Amino acid sequence: MTIASFHCAACGRAYRAERPLWRCDCGGHLNLTPGRGFARGAIVTTDASLWRYVAALALAGPPRVSLGEGWTPLVRRYWRGVEVHFKLESQMPTGSFKDRGTAVMLNHLIEVGVGPIHEDSSGNAGASIATYAAAAGIPCRVYVPAAAPRAKLVQIAAAGAEVRPVSGTRQDVTEAALVATGESFYASHNWQPFFIEGTKTLAFEVWEQLGFRVPDNILVPTGYGSNILGLERGFDELEKSGEIGARPRLFAVQAANCAAFAAAWVVGADRFVPFAAEPTVADGIATPRPIRIAEVLAALRHSRGGVVAVSEEEIAAALGTLGQIGLFVEPTAATAGAALTQLLSDRTITADQMTVVVLTGHGLKATDRIRELLGMGGR
Ligand SMILES: [Zn+2]
Repeated sequence: MTIASFHCAACGRAYRAERPLWRCDCGGHLNLTPGRGFARGAIVTTDASLWRYVAALALAGPPRVSLGEGWTPLVRRYWRGVEVHFKLESQMPTGSFKDRGTAVMLNHLIEVGVGPIHEDSSGNAGASIATYAAAAGIPCRVYVPAAAPRAKLVQIAAAGAEVRPVSGTRQDVTEAALVATGESFYASHNWQPFFIEGTKTLAFEVWEQLGFRVPDNILVPTGYGSNILGLERGFDELEKSGEIGARPRLFAVQAANCAAFAAAWVVGADRFVPFAAEPTVADGIATPRPIRIAEVLAALRHSRGGVVAVSEEEIAAALGTLGQIGLFVEPTAATAGAALTQLLSDRTITADQMTVVVLTGHGLKATDRIRELLGMGGR
């Protein structure tokens, strides 16, 4: 098997993916070289996990650690009278979509001989990495916002990882993790290109579960944009193999209170535009400075989709509606329901189109906040 390679988005330098690496020597982020393409004949149909697509993954061998991640349900429900497919990434081993990226990233790092690792996270990625590190027997330390939902902190600690709460903004948490790069390997899901190699299997699953068809629209809660980039990479590979002739429109959904992509999108920029960030209940996507912002904006434009920003009130309303149709998710995931309401209202999305809404995290992650949002006082 050929060894995959990275290239730096800033200076163009190439690296063979044969040792643990999280960024270029110039400080730029690394991207994996494009995949070769993927066709349905290569699916391992007996494997009910993302490893059914192992032939498409840039790994040297079969997985050494897996908790059965991927192959999540795609269920049909009605939203304002319109049939919609909800992709339940909330039903991953640790309750969020992150397991898709973490499993592939960690298997790559194990292949290239990683030692102890650390990571910074708003909660879900930390819980995912702590859990997979435990499964692999790798020591793990996670820097988290001190104000992260308690359930997520408990989940990280229960996996045996060291939890380091950091006061301040999400960026302060990242800075603390950067300072620690001399002590252990910075296994950042936001920097590691192999995390996106994992999230690309979301594209394969949606396509396969729809009977080898692509939907017209996919809505994704978006903080750093790893699902948008994974979807683009996955659909690229299907197109390269002649499996698909059309591409879905990709809509990145953000909380209006912290919306880096929306700030750039509304002024037609192709890079970061300064904006004022406010607190939001959608803690999982409160990202003030996305690393691959240019790549994500380009992917959205290429797909003819866009960016949707939703208010705190819209998030709370969507959370309630989702719960009442059997979909108990955390506020971050409910943003996608709020965005669907907007896109149906302005007829960007219509009833005759096939639409997939990605629900990224389980409601059990944030019961305290959900209780407040739904006005369940008293008990
Ligand atoms: Zn570079």
